Amino acid sequence: MKDIIDGVLKFQRDAYPQRSELFQRLATHQNPSTLFIACSDSRVVPELLTQREPGDLFVIRNAGNIVPAHGSQAGGVSATVEYAVAGLGVTDIVVCGHSDCGAMTAVATCKCLDHMPAVAGWLRHADAARAVNEGHAHSSVRDRVDGMVRENVIAQLANIKTHPSVARAIEQGKLTLHGWIYDIATGRIDALDSAGKRFQPLADHSQVAPASRPLAQAA
Ligand code: ZN
Repeated sequence: MKDIIDGVLKFQRDAYPQRSELFQRLATHQNPSTLFIACSDSRVVPELLTQREPGDLFVIRNAGNIVPAHGSQAGGVSATVEYAVAGLGVTDIVVCGHSDCGAMTAVATCKCLDHMPAVAGWLRHADAARAVNEGHAHSSVRDRVDGMVRENVIAQLANIKTHPSVARAIEQGKLTLHGWIYDIATGRIDALDSAGKRFQPLADHSQVAPASRPLAQAA
């Protein structure tokens, strides 16, 4: 814990003064453009990999970058999605999976989670992705896990569209969804194409069509 506290003191001494104008501007309001949904994994840092400043990203992080579909029991993820879209008016949502994801490895390899019942229950929200992934042929465990990471991003994008605030904003042309996968070893990010089937390197396709574009902009 000492390194964490030392970090706070360093922030207050060095980083805060360098950005004091920004923090003063942000002291009483925020206007983030993007809701970024990522895994809680310590290696996935949304602001670092997108090079954004405080105030730029509204962030949800949980095990497996999961968004439960809209239902009778609204939890923290649902409430946060709704606040981002209906309250803050974000224009973009990124669902970002990542390589070597522990949650997706557990799902893809049917790892026993009897000792972690809460995790097992939470990962049921990836059941549709698992079913799709199990229908594909895989040459190795790594290939199976990578496939699970991809299918999970696609499934969570489908789940998020069931939220009324998201469905309405997409219909009104105010919101665009994006599916990304971050590779920890290389820093590469692949983005889902507009057909919602293939991931392509963002570096080669920086104009890559979003996973769901507002109807008003549809070609
Ligand atoms: Zn993960």
